Formats: sequence, structure tokens, C-alpha cells
Amino acid sequence: MAALGSISFLRSCGATTIRAFGASSLKAAPKAVAFAPFNPQRLSPPLPSRRLISHVRATSNEEDASKAAAATADSGAPTIFDKIINKEIPSTIVYEDDKVLAFRDISPQAPVHILVVPKLRDGLTQLGKAEERHVDILGQLLHAAKIVAEKEGILDGFRVVINNGPDACQSVYHLHLHVLGGRQMKWPPG
Ligand code: 5GP
Repeated sequence: MAALGSISFLRSCGATTIRAFGASSLKAAPKAVAFAPFNPQRLSPPLPSRRLISHVRATSNEEDASKAAAATADSGAPTIFDKIINKEIPSTIVYEDDKVLAFRDISPQAPVHILVVPKLRDGLTQLGKAEERHVDILGQLLHAAKIVAEKEGILDGFRVVINNGPDACQSVYHLHLHVLGGRQMKWPPG
């Protein structure tokens, strides 16, 4: 339950940070090598600074995208998940019943990364919109998360995450649980 309560997630912020870090290193290296003897200190700022700069850039993109998505969250327009639920676009389905669909995340942040969604959104653009009438489906989503973890063989250690709102980098406004596992999880999350 701590994971649900924290509503935070390592995913793309962490992954993008690594990509940004790699890209800046690749650009900087040829210039420094051409005009000076090799000195790692010249290539870039000290490691902690580079990490900080890259992290700020990556999270800023992530946050902008999340804010843009939040702006239209309550428009009622279908999301990408509606298209997946309606089988209009393909996904790798791991579990399905009459209320819940679980499919592999297109950008996995762990060896196992599955999204568990209610087939009917019914106002649940995000957990923060939950009302009394949603109690059953919220329970079914958690139960489906456990079934998915069992099917994937990660019952010994998995994480369930809900990103809620722009401050948590939610990008799709159709409630979904991330089920992550298959590697050692760290704490605290990013
Ligand atoms: P959020 O950022 O809202 O917590 O999570 C949305 C998740 O949906 C992200 O992890 C993202 O990779 C995933 N996602 C976005 N578009 C698609 C898609 O078209 N197919 C699948 N399978 N996952 C998607």
C-alpha cells in the first residue's frame, strides 16, 4: 500500500536521465580530444553536476508532457488506453476479465512492467477522482495486479505504482496501475 500512497514512479525520469547523460558525453568528447591532451576533468563538469543538469532537463520534459496531458484530462476524450481496450491498437495482453485489462507497457522500466486498467473509465481519469462508487473496481484492479504478478512469477517482489496528476508525472488520464518487477527495486523511488 505504501507504493500506492506515495504515487511516485522511477520510470521515464530515471531512464531519460541516463539517455541525456549519454548524449551529452558523446557530443563533448570529440572537441576536447581534438584540442587538448586527454583530461577527463575537461570533458564535462564533475559527475554530481552533470547528473543534476541531466536530471533537471529530463524531468522538465517529463513534467511539461504531464502538464499538457493534465490540461485535457477531464475533456472526456478517449485516451490511448481506450484504443488498446477496444483493440484498435495492438498491445501484449497479459490478463483480461470483464472489468479489467492488463497489458505490457510500451516503454518498460523493469523486466516486468505491466499496466492494469479498468475497461470502463467511469470518471477515473486518476486515483484522485475516486469516489464511493469506484470501490469495487479499485479492489478489482489490485486483485488483477496480484494475478498478473503471479502469472509473471514475481510474487516474491513487485511494486504497484499509480502516478496521480502532473506532480507525479502522470501522462495518460485513464487510471492505471503499473506492476513492476523482475529486478531489485530501490527505495526511495524518484
Ligand atoms: P503514466 O505516465 O500515466 O503513469 O503511465 C502511462 C504509461 O503508459 C507509460 O508507462 C507509458 O509507457 C505507457 N504507454 C503510453 N502509450 C502506450 C501505448 O500505446 N501502449 C502501451 N502498451 N503503453 C503505453
